[in-house]
Amino acid sequence: MDDYTGIGGSFLQSELPRKSGVEAIGDVPWGTHFCLLYKTAEELLEVLVPYFVQGLAENEFCMWVTSELVDVEQAKAALSAVVPDLNARIASGQLEIRHYTDWYIQDGQFDGERVLRGWVEKVEFAEQLGFEGLRLTGDTFWLEKAVWRGFAQYEEMIHHIIGVKRILALCAYPFPKCDIRETFDVIANHDFALHKEDSRWLSFKSASRQRLGQALRESEGRQQAILEAVQDAIIAFDKSGSIYSINAAGARMFGYDVRELLGADVRLILPEKLATEFGVSYSRQRHNVRGSRETKGRRRNGEFFPVDLTLTATRHNNAPMFVGSVHDLSEKHEAEARLKRIQIDRLAAMGGIAAGLAHELNQPLAAMKTYLKIAERMVAAPPDKRPVSIEDALARAGEQVERAGRIISSLRGLASHGEPNKLIQSLHELIQKACDCYAASLGDRHISLVLNLGAEKDTVLVDGVQIQQVLINLIKNAKEAMAESKTRSLVISTSMAEGEKIQVDIADSGPGILDEIKSQLFEPSHSTKAGGMGVGLPMSRVIIEAHDGRIWAQPDLEQGAIFSFTLPLLEPVNLEGAA
Ligand code: ADP
Repeated sequence: MDDYTGIGGSFLQSELPRKSGVEAIGDVPWGTHFCLLYKTAEELLEVLVPYFVQGLAENEFCMWVTSELVDVEQAKAALSAVVPDLNARIASGQLEIRHYTDWYIQDGQFDGERVLRGWVEKVEFAEQLGFEGLRLTGDTFWLEKAVWRGFAQYEEMIHHIIGVKRILALCAYPFPKCDIRETFDVIANHDFALHKEDSRWLSFKSASRQRLGQALRESEGRQQAILEAVQDAIIAFDKSGSIYSINAAGARMFGYDVRELLGADVRLILPEKLATEFGVSYSRQRHNVRGSRETKGRRRNGEFFPVDLTLTATRHNNAPMFVGSVHDLSEKHEAEARLKRIQIDRLAAMGGIAAGLAHELNQPLAAMKTYLKIAERMVAAPPDKRPVSIEDALARAGEQVERAGRIISSLRGLASHGEPNKLIQSLHELIQKACDCYAASLGDRHISLVLNLGAEKDTVLVDGVQIQQVLINLIKNAKEAMAESKTRSLVISTSMAEGEKIQVDIADSGPGILDEIKSQLFEPSHSTKAGGMGVGLPMSRVIIEAHDGRIWAQPDLEQGAIFSFTLPLLEPVNLEGAA
C-alpha cells in the first residue's frame, strides 16, 4: 500500500521504509502511527506476531504492552512459537513485553505526558544500544470510558512526536468495545486503521483526516519555511519541560538535529530556571508573555553561551504550553568585549600620549619662563648694563611659545576625532589624496614616489580624515628617515589580506628602524628626532585599531623600513540577490 503517509512520517521519508511484517500493510516509513481495530484475541495475535517477528529480524528494539485479553505470558508463548531464540532476545534487551499496569498506569492513574516521555526515552535508549529504532504496540483493552478523552488527547500528542522519530507505533483497540464516536476518534488520531472484514484485512483512513493531513502538511510546510527564515530558536514545550517543537535554526544553535531535541527535556539546552517551576504562569484566556531576559543556553559540547529568552505561556489542546524564543547573544557580547578592549587600549594609549605631551611641553615652558625672567631683569637694569636686549629675550620666549603650539597642534587630530566618523570610501582615493598633499615636499627632497595600488577591492568604512592622518604620518616619517640616504624611494602598495581585509605597505629606502626602539615603536614617547615627540605612530595605532585593523612595522630588513596596516573591506550588499 502506498497511502500510509499521514502527517506522521513526513520528516523521515527520505529514509528507506520499514517492512511492517503484516501483509495488508506492507512497507511503512519510520514515524508511522497506525491502529488495529480487532474483534478477538486471535485477530490481535494474527497482526502482532508477524509485526514483531519482522521487527526483531530488522534489528529494531521491540516493545509490546499487553492487557488482560492477551497477557505477557500469552504474548511470549505466541511469539516463541515462531521466534526460537525468544528468551535470548529478551535477555539481550531487544524485546520487552510488559503489562499495561506496568506502563500506561502508575499509581492507579493514566498520565499521557509521562507515557509520552517514556516512549521518547525508549527510542533514545534503542538508538544508543545500536538498534535501528523502536517498534511498539500498546493494547487498549483496559481503557475505560472515564479515561477515554485523556487517552485520545495523548494519542494526538504522541502523533506529532512519533512522526519525527524512528518509531513505528501500532495501537490496538478492541472494536466491539468502542462506540461509533470513539471509533471516529481512533481513526482520526492515526495515520490509518487496520480492520478485518469477511476474513480480509482492510486498511482505511478517514477522509477528514486525509484532508486535515493535506491541510496540515501545507500549513506545516509554510510554518517550516517561516521558521527556517528565522535565525532565533523557537521552542515549544509542555509543563514538564518536554520539547515538542523546535525549528532547525534553533536546533543548530544548540548543536543538535531537530529530531534529537523532540521529546527531550528543555533544560538540556536551557539549563537555567525558566518554566512553570520558575515562575511563568499561564492563563486559560490569553497568552501570557513574561518579557525577555538574558540567560544561558547550553550547546551540545557543554559550552554555555548568553541568550536572550522570551517566554510565552499559552495552552494547546487544553494543556499548558510554553513557547520560548531564544536569541543567541554570543556575537553581540564578543563585539561589546572587543569594543571595550579597544576603548581600554585607546585610553591607555591616550594616557601615554598625554604623559609624553606633558613631558614635551615642560621644556618650552621652562625655557619660556627663563627668557621672560631675563627680560624682566633687563627692564630693571639700565640700558647700558644689559648683556642681551629685551627684544632678543622676548623673541626667544616667543619661539618657545610657537614650539609649545606645534606640540599641541600635533595632537589635535586625535583629540578632535575622538569617535571616528565613518563613511564608505575608496582607500585608493584616500592614498592618492595623501600623496597629492605630499608630492611637492617629496619632490623637493628628490624622493621618487611609486604607487602600486594592486588590491582588487578597496571599499572601506572609515573616517577619511583619520586614515589620511595615518597615511600622512607614515609618509612624513619615511621622508624624514631618508633625509641622509643616497637612494630615496618611497613605494606605497596595496594588496588583499586574509579575512577580507586590504593591506597598505609603505616602504622607504632609509636606514631602517633603530634596534633600541624597535620593540616599542607604537608606544608613546619614543622619538629619535630632534624636534620629534614620538606620538605619530601611537596615534596611528589608536586610529587603525578603532577601525578594526592592525598596524605594524617589518623589522630587520636589509634596507629601509616597511610600515603596514590593514583595514576590513566592506562587502557591497547585493539587494537583487535577496529578492
Ligand atoms: P616622531 O616622528 O615624532 O618621532 P613617530 O611616533 O611617528 O614620532 O615615530 C617614532 C620613531 O619611530 C621615530 O622617531 C623614528 O625613530 C622611528 N621611525 C618611524 N618611522 C620610521 C621610518 N620610516 N624609518 C625609520 N625609523 C622610523
